[in-house]
Amino acid sequence: MNTILKHTCSGKGEQSVRCPHCATTLIVRHGTYPRAHPHEQQLLINIQRYRCKAPACPWKTFSILPYPFLPIIRHFQQTIFFFHTLFNIEQKTQEDTARQLGVTRGIIKRLARFCHRFVPWFAREKHIGAWGPDPEVNPDHFWMDYTRDFSQAIYPMRWKMF
Ligand SMILES: [Zn+2]
Repeated sequence: MNTILKHTCSGKGEQSVRCPHCATTLIVRHGTYPRAHPHEQQLLINIQRYRCKAPACPWKTFSILPYPFLPIIRHFQQTIFFFHTLFNIEQKTQEDTARQLGVTRGIIKRLARFCHRFVPWFAREKHIGAWGPDPEVNPDHFWMDYTRDFSQAIYPMRWKMF
């Protein structure tokens, strides 16, 4: 919680924010949007959105997600690895896994499809990524790179230049 608040409430580290598409620092703050707190669902955390001002960059807005938020997917990494352990390693049924995670079987099916892409990527990248073997060890330093690598690898369509 401290990490989240530090990132969202102070402008510290603002200079190091770069457009993930063209790497310019020519950016301005561009509103915020809410995401649910990892442990208290009713508590909302404002995520800062930025606008890229580089004329040649086809991208308009982006956000830098503070730890422990992941791009696009609404689950947290701990939930994903807990699911992976129960369902893929311990081979529990969908029903048992759903009960232990406290989610519906529909979510279990989506997590299974997601892990099919995520787990092999994570296993490979942790040996070569700057954040390897674990982006959560020093999230202040690596979370920005990690979330960019994550979304480029798992959701490549989102990165298509139009
Ligand atoms: Zn840009």
